[in-house]
This record gives sequence, C-alpha cells and structure tokens, in this order.
Amino acid sequence: MLGATGSVGRSTLALVRADPAAYRVTALVAGSRAAPLAALAREFDARLAVVADPAAYPELRAALAGSGIEAAAGTEAVLEAVIRPVDWVMSAIVGAVGLAPTLEALRRGRMVAIANKECLVSAGGLLLATAKASGAVVLPVDSEHNAMFQALVGHDRAAVERLILTASGGPFRTLDRAAMAKVTVEEALNHPNWSMGAKITIDSATMMNKGLELIEAHHLFGVPEARIEILIHPQSVIHSLVAYRDGSQLAQLGVPDMRVPIAFCLGWPGRLAVEGVQLDLAKVGRLEFAAPDAERFPALRLARDALRSGGTVPAMLNAANEVAVSAFLERRIGFLDIAAVVEQVLMQLPGDEPRTIDDIRECDGVTRRVARSEVARRAAQHA
Ligand code: NAD
Ligand code: MG
Repeated sequence: MLGATGSVGRSTLALVRADPAAYRVTALVAGSRAAPLAALAREFDARLAVVADPAAYPELRAALAGSGIEAAAGTEAVLEAVIRPVDWVMSAIVGAVGLAPTLEALRRGRMVAIANKECLVSAGGLLLATAKASGAVVLPVDSEHNAMFQALVGHDRAAVERLILTASGGPFRTLDRAAMAKVTVEEALNHPNWSMGAKITIDSATMMNKGLELIEAHHLFGVPEARIEILIHPQSVIHSLVAYRDGSQLAQLGVPDMRVPIAFCLGWPGRLAVEGVQLDLAKVGRLEFAAPDAERFPALRLARDALRSGGTVPAMLNAANEVAVSAFLERRIGFLDIAAVVEQVLMQLPGDEPRTIDDIRECDGVTRRVARSEVARRAAQHA
C-alpha cells in the first residue's frame, strides 16, 4: 500500500479491517510521518513499513521496536515495497512523486489499483504501455474512472461514442470570479460531498481535478480528448457515464464514499460486501446536471489544451499545478493565482515527446523550477 496513511490509504485499510482474514498486508508506505504509519503497521501486522523521508527513519524504527516489523526509509525502500512478492498494490501516494513505485509495480506485472492520478497525467502513455507489456492489471480507483470501467466491462469498446465525466463543481460551483479571488484556504478545503486529502480538495475547488481526470480518462480508456465530455452534477451520485453509439448511456451510481470504488478494485473480478454504503435514491430525491463553465474555471481549458498538445505538456501542467497548489495551501498566493501560474508556466515552456521515464522526470523538475519563480513573483504581489 503506497500512501497508506492518506485518505485513500485509510479507506482501503478500513475495508481490510472489515475482513482481516481475507488479506495479508505485506508493506505499508507513507511520506514523512512515522507515528501514524507505525500504528497502522502494528494494527495490520505488516511485514515492512517504509517512510519516504529518511529523516523520519529513527522515529519509525523506534516505534516498531519489538514488533518484528521491518522499518525502512528513502526512495529505494519505497521501490522495495512493490518489489516484494505481492498480488495487489494500491498506488495512493499524492503527486507525481508516486510515479516511480507505480511504474515498478506495473513492470513487475502486479495488479495495481491506481488512485494516484498525477502519475497517470504525467506519464499515462508509458504506464499503460508498461502494463500491457508485463500483463499487469490496472484498476482505476478514482471514482469517475472506476464508474467508467464498470460501465465498459463486457461491452464493445468500438461502440463507445463518448465518455461523460461527472463533476460536483466543488465548493465554488456558483461563485463568480470576483468572489473566487477572495476565497480562503479553509473555504477551499471544505468540499461539499467528499472527504479527501488537501491537494485533491484544492484541485476540486479550482476544477483542475476534473482537468486531470480528463487526461486520466484518455490514458486509461484510449478515448480522444474531443470525445470526453465534462458534466456538472452537484450531488456526486452518478460517478460517470459511458455513451454508446446506439444511444444508450451506462452509469455507475453510489454514495460519495471512496470505499465503494476501492472495494471494486480489491474484489476484482468479484465483488465484496461493504457495510454502510447502500445508496437510497428516494432520500437523494433529485439529481441535477449542467454544462461546465470554462470561463470561471480556466483549469478545464488548460487541461484540455494540454491533452491536445500531448507529449510532455500534461506532465508540465501537473507539475506546475502541484507547485501552485502547495503555494496556495501555504497562503503565499491567492486562489485564482493557481490556474494563472499553470497558464504562465505552460506559455513559457516548450513541450517535447517523452521517450522514457527520465524524460518525464526531467521535464517535471524543470517545470517545478519555472513554476516556483512564477509563484515567487505572484507571492510578492499577494503579500
Ligand atoms: P493524502 O494527502 O490524504 O495522502 C497522501 C499519502 O501519500 C499519504 O499516505 C502520504 O504519507 C503519502 N506520501 C506523500 N508524499 C509521499 C512520498 N514522497 N513518498 C511516499 N508517500 C508519500 O491524499 P489522498 O487524498 O489519499 O490522495 C492520494 C491520491 O489519490 C492523489 O493522487 C489523489 O488525487 C488520488 N485520489 C484521491 C481521492 C480521495 O478521495 N482522497 C479520490 C480520487 C483520487
Ligand atoms: Mg475523482
């Protein structure tokens, strides 16, 4: 489990907790906080616990003393976790930093449940090609892509007319740009339907999340940008749809709880029983739909353009966005600056055709440097 201490990681472990005899937890991986990782490793009797940040190693080792659980730290140790013989890997690290272990898991032919959308946006082509070559099974965790996957299974791919990606619209769905300019970090972190990690919650508020998901859908299902539609659906009950050329649209519905798509991936090709997630449509009462507004949410346009440009441009979009979201969370720039930083960076950098993962990594690094200087410029104005 990559990203074991995060929102997706904890939802996954909640499913394991509900039926502990069905699983054997091999390795748990987290970023820098040793204490919560050690607690989970002890609870689930993992064989190995890894923190990416070497500075957290002494604390992790101390917290696991006497447990018989191996402690490790650093980038190589993160890779070691997926090199161990396991059947199933959850890729739920946040950010493009999750690319290397996800790629390694796919190279080794594991069944990989991918929540980490940033790695798909940055290197979707390489990841899917690697999976194809090794025979690895890729299962989409992101609720929308999980819904599409479910609506595609058993159907003729050639008969797909388009994918319809639903979006709650986030907390600022009805706000105008002047009001958006003044929103606080707290307001942006308050998602109406979903409880998630900070980065994806901010992405949902800017709607960059939907832009990233557009690119993610393209790679996962091989559908071109022009045939992926975004549909605002504030209730987050229909998690996405597939439109077939005969006029039928197939949807997957459910409560907005990540345990549902994660359970699908854990159970695949079967289905697990999950407590407390039954959807009551009579209680929901009504479902609403609207077209998205790319004027108020420029991230939608930026992501579409990036996908159309192809090559390394989506990796640049992602890297610039990661830098801008961090700066917003640190209160260095305003909410509208997030998409503005991404746009500025994309205008400054040329795209390229990546051949290897190193090309992507280099492009990611260069983009982050340019994005940091753009952030610094805006932070000076913002202060
Ligand atoms: P989170 O911030 O709650 O958790 C992130 C996890 O990654 C933590 O365990 C953290 O320790 C770990 N991590 C951070 N940096 C790391 C590093 N350098 N090396 C190893 N581990 C590191 O995030 P989340 O909300 O669980 O989201 C995880 C991923 O899943 C993101 O890509 C997000 O877009 C995607 N996703 C999340 C949800 C959701 O409901 N939370 C839904 C769909 C997709
Ligand atoms: Mg999603």
